[in-house]
Amino acid sequence: MSLRQLEVRQDIYLNKLTSFRIGGKAKLFFVVHSVDDIKLVLSKVSSKFYFLGGGSNLLVSDEDLSTPVITLGKEFDYIKKLDENIIEVGGATPLSKVLNYTIKEKFCGFENFSGVPARIGGLLIMNASSFGRSISEILEEVFVIDRCGNRGVIKKKDISFGYRTSSLKEERSIIINAKFRLVKFDGIRERVYFYLRKRFREQDFDFPSAGCVFKNPKDFSAAYLIEQCGLKGFTYGGAQVSFKHANFIVNRANAKAKDVSGLIEIVKEKVYNKFGIVLEEEIERWEI
Ligand SMILES: Cc1cc2nc3c(=O)[nH]c(=O)nc-3n(C[C@H](O)[C@H](O)[C@H](O)COP(=O)(O)OP(=O)(O)OC[C@H]3O[C@@H](n4cnc5c(N)ncnc54)[C@H](O)[C@@H]3O)c2cc1C
Repeated sequence: MSLRQLEVRQDIYLNKLTSFRIGGKAKLFFVVHSVDDIKLVLSKVSSKFYFLGGGSNLLVSDEDLSTPVITLGKEFDYIKKLDENIIEVGGATPLSKVLNYTIKEKFCGFENFSGVPARIGGLLIMNASSFGRSISEILEEVFVIDRCGNRGVIKKKDISFGYRTSSLKEERSIIINAKFRLVKFDGIRERVYFYLRKRFREQDFDFPSAGCVFKNPKDFSAAYLIEQCGLKGFTYGGAQVSFKHANFIVNRANAKAKDVSGLIEIVKEKVYNKFGIVLEEEIERWEI
């Protein structure tokens, strides 16, 4: 297969594909429709590429990206029931679709993540966690392609998961699909709505964001430290520390990546000066 048979798009606006609504164009954008496609693209782009999931944890540069961007096509957006308690979910499947499925099938396991605008691959790579549960808790195994193009199944016991990270992320593996073990539960609809309401109450959905910007340092919540510095509502260019959740930076008015970066530096400096704590970023930056 040659590159010409692949879906290669040019000049794709990344601000339309990220929850922050920020970012320049990807000069080269590959939509992969099969495992062979992925292997081929990896052989062409060598190790320098970005991989896009739901775009909900990214701060993308305002400049156009010369680094190629790869994303999974619709073939990887599916849910399959394998047996009584195990489902297989494609890496490109939006979490919202999985939640609707689990309501229909009365499966519990994903409800803590209700409202997170992510896809399955991104949730696993980041080991997303929410309201006391991390996604790795319900995982059985993942099917991946490593950056050299080798494919294979990795059992959960062979993956190390940390706070917003995983060995899969460090190895830059691409998640094709994952199997999850779920439990039947009649009251799942109420549980999903409970967590959805809780998220909308506590987090800022009024303006675009990438969720929490900083990791919680040991013994503290980053939101508490930022709030104690009087930074809620602090604005820099089009970016603002959310009034509702101090660990959210929101795109208040056509913010640029440079506005968010500037605000991040101010927040870090104020928190360091007041508490002597260095905040570490949770969001991922894509530079040119
Ligand atoms: C309103 C809001 C609320 C949020 N709440 C939470 C929360 O409660 N808990 C939490 O943990 N996070 C939360 N987030 C952050 C974000 O949703 C998570 O980090 C999520 O895991 C990112 O998934 P994604 O599909 O959007 O990935 P992206 O943002 O597209 O990418 C994130 C990383 O995953 C990689 N990646 C994506 N898909 C794949 C794949 N198939 N294979 C290999 N690598 C891949 C990317 O290369 C990148 O390194 C929130 C974000 C928003 C906007």
